[in-house]
Amino acid sequence: MPEEIIINAAAVYTPLQTIRRASIVVRDGVVTSLKSEWSSRIEALNLKNYVIAPGFIDTHIHGCCGHDTNSASTTDIRRMAEELVKHGVTAFAPTSVTADHETLLKIAKSVSAYMEEAEGEPLGAEVIGLHMEGPYINPEMRGAQNPEHIRKPSLEEFQEYVEASRGKLVIMDIAPEIEGALQLISYASSLGVHVGLGHTNATYEEAVRGIVAGASRATHIFNAMRRFHHRDPGITVACLQNPHVYIEVIADLIHLASPTLRLVVDYAGTSRTMLITDAISATGLPDGTYSLGGLRVTVKEGIARLDNGVLAGSTLTMDRAVRNVVSLGYSLRDALTMASLTPARSLGLEGMGCLRPGCRGDIVVLDEMLGVRGVFVRGINMYEDY
Ligand SMILES: [Zn+2]
Repeated sequence: MPEEIIINAAAVYTPLQTIRRASIVVRDGVVTSLKSEWSSRIEALNLKNYVIAPGFIDTHIHGCCGHDTNSASTTDIRRMAEELVKHGVTAFAPTSVTADHETLLKIAKSVSAYMEEAEGEPLGAEVIGLHMEGPYINPEMRGAQNPEHIRKPSLEEFQEYVEASRGKLVIMDIAPEIEGALQLISYASSLGVHVGLGHTNATYEEAVRGIVAGASRATHIFNAMRRFHHRDPGITVACLQNPHVYIEVIADLIHLASPTLRLVVDYAGTSRTMLITDAISATGLPDGTYSLGGLRVTVKEGIARLDNGVLAGSTLTMDRAVRNVVSLGYSLRDALTMASLTPARSLGLEGMGCLRPGCRGDIVVLDEMLGVRGVFVRGINMYEDY
């Protein structure tokens, strides 16, 4: 018997299109029908006061609820998957921070081991692969990355990460101006690893060279990047102006002041701007002292900082990021696009981040306050609070 769900909703966001009084059918994990009329079938799930959208995709997240990608444990990744789904996330890329070679190899192995374990039996949000933030970054722009382990790019080391991850390394953040970076960017890109430009002091010209070499993402734009100056525009302008570059934004309204966030969205558009959380293990936990890549982090009023005051990731969740964007005056459609379709496209994830026939049945159910009330991953009910 094929597994089938039918949902009647106030509206379905594809997300580019809004279908009112809609019914959607998911069979064997795939959307098979989307109509602008409610289904009268007896088995239909009536969520007529709620809207439905593609599940959120977080491509940059270190941890949450006391669990951390850097612990290199499949249990931690499982706990993240179980927790994130409650925030509407149906797919995510566990993200490492700079660490020694052995630790990074272990992390790569743990992510691929978890993905094999969870294959065909999702227990929450699905892992789409490993995102490595560092270690090939500029120490001057280290932000909250541990300086002890920042190093020059090495093709041999990188190859070991790819092998340890069994090809599941999907994103690596690199500073393009450091020695050996361009060669590594080209090599990584040729293997299908998406390169983000991050923790970098690159000038405009250096950033353009990185993009020409294959980089396709800007890692949490404006954060841990050379500052904009009108006679030295630097990497931020290079990334914003290049149509091949997807732009990560941490929409917690702390990492980017609201006018700056608006500037990015208005300039790069919703088809290139994507919401990330950059969340750390303290997310979902009370204020206190935590650790990130061996550095002490203090969380006060939800803001995570190192002892020297530098921001150290966030405690943001994707549902809150969507609400924040809407609070700035953007349409729900725009906010949802930046939370699902654009991150999927940034990684070439066909059939993800959208709700049309043929796409995956990854669904988030939202109430009128944009609170998460239900989540389906490949058509399987993973969370509900109706
Ligand atoms: Zn990060």
